[in-house]
Amino acid sequence: RFISFEGIDGAGKSSQIAATLALLQARGIVVEQSREPGGTPVGERLRELLLHEPMDLETEAILMFAARREHLAARIEPALAAGRWVVCDRFSDATFAYQVGGRGLARAKFDVLEAWVHPGFQPDLTLLFDLPPEIAAARVASTGADPDRFEREQRDFFVRVREAYLERARMAPQRIRVLDANRAPELIRADIERIVAALVGA
Ligand code: C5P
Repeated sequence: RFISFEGIDGAGKSSQIAATLALLQARGIVVEQSREPGGTPVGERLRELLLHEPMDLETEAILMFAARREHLAARIEPALAAGRWVVCDRFSDATFAYQVGGRGLARAKFDVLEAWVHPGFQPDLTLLFDLPPEIAAARVASTGADPDRFEREQRDFFVRVREAYLERARMAPQRIRVLDANRAPELIRADIERIVAALVGA
């Protein structure tokens, strides 16, 4: 099975991904962790470009999907075929949220790229970490790390990204579970445990 984690920068995905991996492993499930853009040698080099090099919006969207195609072919599909689970930090919902919602890429162009790269394929489960952009931005700032090209965007950008994520969740309510990420980590983890347990049992 394939689980993706989504949300604006600073939503707290990373620590919950680690907890989810531990949860699955404790149930004897063999799971691979990955991220997008990235996850393969080609994908990680594209990630470097995407995160630090200013570029045309459509170039950006195509490179995101190029990295995703490589990721699917080289890692995700082989893992799933072998019965392993894959837990991924971001997938196509992020491109919908950031490039379509945040930057204004034409929805029709996103749809073409998505239908090309993974026709009929989506994660089995997507956990969307939702919280107000102000709170997320404060968390990003408090890490003290150098912000990437996306993290340097202003509040209104993240307002649009958040809205696009929520719109996408309304389009696929079975797959995309919206979590209130503006809560104590233990409470978020409890929600995830419940949702993931249902998937394990299914
Ligand atoms: O989640 P992570 O910080 O690893 O993602 C790297 C950056 O790439 C983030 O700032 C995220 O906003 C951006 N990104 C994007 N479009 C995607 C995937 C990631 O703008 N489709």
